[in-house]
Amino acid sequence: MTTSANPMIEKEALPSESGRFGQFGGCYVPETLMTALGDLGREYEQAKQDPEFQSQLEFYLKEFAGRPTGLYFAERLTEELGGAKIYFKREDLLHTGAHKINNAIGQALLARRMGKKRIIAETGAGQHGVATATVCARFGLDCVVYMGAVDMERQKLNVFRMELCGAEVRSVESGQKTLKDAVNEAMRDWVTNVRETHYILGSALGAHPYPMMVRDFHRVIGQETRESVMEKEGRLPDEMVACVGGGSNAIGLFYEFLDEPEIRLVGVEAGGYGIQPGNHAARFEGGRLGVLQGCKTYILQNPDGQIELTHSVSAGLDYAAIGPEHAYYRDIGRIDYAYATDEDVLEAFQLLCRTEGIIPALESTHALAYVVKRAPELDTDKVIVMNLSGRGDKDVAQVAKLLGENA
Ligand SMILES: *Cc1c(COP(=O)(O)O)cnc(C)c1O
Repeated sequence: MTTSANPMIEKEALPSESGRFGQFGGCYVPETLMTALGDLGREYEQAKQDPEFQSQLEFYLKEFAGRPTGLYFAERLTEELGGAKIYFKREDLLHTGAHKINNAIGQALLARRMGKKRIIAETGAGQHGVATATVCARFGLDCVVYMGAVDMERQKLNVFRMELCGAEVRSVESGQKTLKDAVNEAMRDWVTNVRETHYILGSALGAHPYPMMVRDFHRVIGQETRESVMEKEGRLPDEMVACVGGGSNAIGLFYEFLDEPEIRLVGVEAGGYGIQPGNHAARFEGGRLGVLQGCKTYILQNPDGQIELTHSVSAGLDYAAIGPEHAYYRDIGRIDYAYATDEDVLEAFQLLCRTEGIIPALESTHALAYVVKRAPELDTDKVIVMNLSGRGDKDVAQVAKLLGENA
């Protein structure tokens, strides 16, 4: 095993009581929400210790969402690339098609525990909106999803899915009419209706306690992975890779292994058309410290502090800020970050379909594009685990169009 310069981690101590990961995170919200966030944090701490809550959570993750997910040896892809053995954690096989349901179930149970009967959520591409609408139907909760008007037009099918599950999708006409504007609108609603409403935020982002809570609801990904890889390989992997939008699927996989210094952890951001302002969403490639939508973190912004436009082929990674816990682990050097361009992603997407018969979500394909480059650099006795965070059915029409245009 190679020696590693990875720092010692005391992950249990994070975030601090004020919700900070080092200098990142915190709670930058209007006064009216401070009480609600404080209540939510306390309720969550109690729920975490409550065996009844934990057993309910486990029940619904298993019976409704389809956990545990497999750890699949990608034999043909491994052969094709001719290096490290590649395993996929199959979050794509979950109900609604991605890891997002883990968090949606957790927060819906929490809302029920708090006696809140009305749920709001933001959504970009619609995946988190669909997961939220789904759990609201299951638990009989009223559901309002805020979605940018532009995104609603691009993702009509997901709008219809949410409506089928009984959710009301509210079109957001402000700003660029995309995800950031939908979050603003959801926060406005929460301020007004905080008494009876819980806000199910969709990634490891926003004000404390959200980054911690969302992370914890996804930790099961890493816990299951440890068990499976020990069973299959008799040891822990050499590298683990996940794509990073807000950072929930990545931290869900990585958390379990943060204090195993010999495992290299790599988060992959969206390189879009390439690293020029406005053309990508790789926050660690030119992002600066700032505050956006509740937390302090790395943000893509212009010299005046205006939020930069972002671009990615995958809507789920297309956001100007990264989760604060990722910012911290990047600063102390525990997690490495890379990016994949749209072009790399389209190639990797087709390669996986052809070699394994798996159609990956374009978000997850960013991690895959990194693995495709990395695996051949490693010996055949090395092991890489990649989080296959979602399935690509939702992306097939878009890919067909892109490939058609390129041909
Ligand atoms: C939303 C989404 C992501 C990005 O969100 P994270 O919070 O960074 O995990 C990644 N993969 C899939 C399939 C998604 O739907």
